[in-house]
Amino acid sequence: MLSASLSGESNVSMSQAFRSTRVLTPQGLAPATVMVEGERIVEVRGWADVPSGAILRDLGDFVLLPGLVDTHVHINEPGRTEWEGFATATRAAAAGGVTTLVDMPLNCVPETIDVTALEAKRAAADGKAWVDWAAWGGVVRGNADALQPLAKAGVAGFKCFLIHSGIDGFAWVDERDLCLAMERLRDSGLPLLAHAEVAGPVDAATARLKGDRGDWRRYSTWLASRPDEAETEAIALLIRLCEKFKVPLHIVHLSSAKALPLIARARDHGLPLTVETCTHYLWFAAEEIADGATEFKCAPPIRGAANREALWGALGAGLIDMVTTDHSPCPPEMKRRDEGRWDTAWGGVASLGLALPVLWTAISRRGLRMDGLGDWMGAAPARLAGLAGRKGVLAAGADADLVVFDPDATWTVATGDLHFRHKLSSYLGAELRGRVVETWLRGERVFDQGEWSGQPLGRELARA
Ligand SMILES: [Zn+2]
Repeated sequence: MLSASLSGESNVSMSQAFRSTRVLTPQGLAPATVMVEGERIVEVRGWADVPSGAILRDLGDFVLLPGLVDTHVHINEPGRTEWEGFATATRAAAAGGVTTLVDMPLNCVPETIDVTALEAKRAAADGKAWVDWAAWGGVVRGNADALQPLAKAGVAGFKCFLIHSGIDGFAWVDERDLCLAMERLRDSGLPLLAHAEVAGPVDAATARLKGDRGDWRRYSTWLASRPDEAETEAIALLIRLCEKFKVPLHIVHLSSAKALPLIARARDHGLPLTVETCTHYLWFAAEEIADGATEFKCAPPIRGAANREALWGALGAGLIDMVTTDHSPCPPEMKRRDEGRWDTAWGGVASLGLALPVLWTAISRRGLRMDGLGDWMGAAPARLAGLAGRKGVLAAGADADLVVFDPDATWTVATGDLHFRHKLSSYLGAELRGRVVETWLRGERVFDQGEWSGQPLGRELARA
């Protein structure tokens, strides 16, 4: 039925009217018609209110959502394109209803820590992106002088690590480095994103697991080696510096619910602090992870079921602002599944394209409403990346990035559903509810019921 109603050819020079009984706007889920002219949404009007002359896209009861924004993705190109790449990552994004990606400044070579590296990334992306994208710059030890030029060159903000990142070319920073960086960034208005774990508690815990005291095939050993305190100590330090420098600070991939009281207090004091958690922390729980299943390895680690439910509570309460994927793949052999050792396997969960059905399934099971999705996966990450009002929202003036979503489809994740480069993911076998039917980028259909249409139309969104 959908293919019949949508069979009209795409013609962006004409008005298009996307009509559904369930349209997710900032006001919630309601029947509406989204009017699109060219690349933009010009109006959201009543369901029955379709002007004559517009191409009617009647979506029936499928949900119409804003194109999703994922601000935490490791595309790894240039330099590690054998891990992932612009073509594969952005195709996976389009298939999952994600129309904007913001690329992390590491695992690519060179790391995006100066303007030369940013230009190399732009050259690598040219003509390959199926969705729009932007770049985070990196704050590393010793690159303070590169920060302002990177800001002027259009990065969306900056990312740093408070612990070894796993990549020697992306050096972690201590309090002194952070102070220097925040001084330089103070006038830019750009956010500083931080991997919030410090080394002290991790080193101490790992030392306690030395020799035959830790069986590194067991998930519980990995979990014990990355204690909550590594996160809470890092977040306490970051909040202190946020208070001092008033630089917008963003905690990436919050895993430990024990940090929530610190975050609540900082919010009460009006600090410019935002927080994300990731799909895998909201979906999986430590109790369910098999020993040796290193496709689940990530840092901070996936913690217990009670912790997961506390993260859901914080998301509902607005203490956690957004949900990202932290899609961070590697060649399957680097996961060393044959050994199944958590200390030697490469870390990172691959999931790009699955977040919407994963979150919707989790929401449905908890009896929650769909309304939060638009903010968690659209408007809030768009604000972080300086794209407020332009991306991640169905409202007049925004780019016509749209997702047509069948909320009732049920399916089991198989390798054929993974569109990123390597078909290894901790979500294989997951039973999900909801499926992306179509994805539209700036008024053009780029994904249609399992097929990508046309050619890569994605652009870089350099921050003004
Ligand atoms: Zn990451």
